[in-house]
Amino acid sequence: MNLSEVFQQHFQKAASVTVSSAGRVNLIGEHTDYNEGLVLPTPIVQRCTMLLETRADSLVQVFSLQKNQLLEYTLGSEVAGRDWLDYIQGVTQVLNQDGFVFTGFDLVFSSDVPLGSGLSSSAALLVTTVKAIRQAFHLEISDLEAAQIAQRAENGLVGARVGLLDQMACSLGRNGEALFIDFKTLETKTVVLPKNLELVILHSGLTHSLSAGEHGSRNYKTRRAECEQACALLRIHSLRDLLPHDFERVAALPAPFAQRAKHVISENARVLKAITALETGDLETLGALFYASHASMRDDYDVSEPEIDLIVDLARETKGIYGARLTGGGFGGSVVMIADVGMGRAAGEAIAAEYSKRTGNTPRLLSPSE
Ligand code: ADP
Ligand code: MG
Repeated sequence: MNLSEVFQQHFQKAASVTVSSAGRVNLIGEHTDYNEGLVLPTPIVQRCTMLLETRADSLVQVFSLQKNQLLEYTLGSEVAGRDWLDYIQGVTQVLNQDGFVFTGFDLVFSSDVPLGSGLSSSAALLVTTVKAIRQAFHLEISDLEAAQIAQRAENGLVGARVGLLDQMACSLGRNGEALFIDFKTLETKTVVLPKNLELVILHSGLTHSLSAGEHGSRNYKTRRAECEQACALLRIHSLRDLLPHDFERVAALPAPFAQRAKHVISENARVLKAITALETGDLETLGALFYASHASMRDDYDVSEPEIDLIVDLARETKGIYGARLTGGGFGGSVVMIADVGMGRAAGEAIAAEYSKRTGNTPRLLSPSE
């Protein structure tokens, strides 16, 4: 059954609005967005697609194809704790706070962005929701504002204190291009992906919500707090204020603040080098930057997992692969790799097969798509 038929089945009418947004893979620049740093995401093939029709009353009915579940609420009575419906409620709550005028609606959506895998299924869902409501009610909202509304929804009602990377990538990203964002100024720049490059994206099968690692102090929230603590100790506004020549000053901090700050400083520098490598089609240099970024996330930022490290190690031994790194917030998720064009699929399949044999996990090759 296609999405229109699902809509018809649930609501006995057709939907006049169709909107979709892709998930994203962050090429490099991890855990830098909330430190006013630099990032370089690009859209993935997998996306969230939504059908919407307005209602005359203030009821909102939403069906998720992945959850096979229909949930509802009334505008103005948004409240946290209703599972995935919080993402929709979060958006209407923010739009309402901002004074936008709209009524209730019926919604059906489907996403093939894997959930909890570092590829931003949450931002794809939030951004698509904002854009579907924008289109249905002719609201004046730019794509950047759509991303900011999505972030406020995720920070607010959803309760996840995430940066703006995912939402901007999902809202502004264009196929075949990486989007450089400087979070100190929100300045963006398009970097065209070179023709000799093929991206390989392998999902480890380990989602961050189920990851054994994401307990105690090994989680996103703690990493953010550690960065704030590092800034307080250094008496600076944000870690972006530091450059590689500040390494000595940073090394004097107690653990783990020295390591966290070191990752952010070195990662920002790697983003700038990666842009040059992309612009010149220099896959060797780009690959080396990926491996260095991974080592930094593993050793200094401590957000990797043994399974993820295994995929990166297997990539090193695989022909046609120049570099590999954990992408997204970490504690499970996916690995992004640089391959020669035409080599990605075979290389990705070989790595997936060996990884599966050694761990018993079920990986998924998400790019190149078949
Ligand atoms: P990521 O963004 O890395 O995929 P998150 O934990 O930020 O991981 O977001 C995953 C959450 O987003 C899911 O647990 C679910 O609540 C929500 N979500 C995303 N896509 C869907 C979907 N298709 N149906 C229902 N909920 C979804
Ligand atoms: Mg997310």
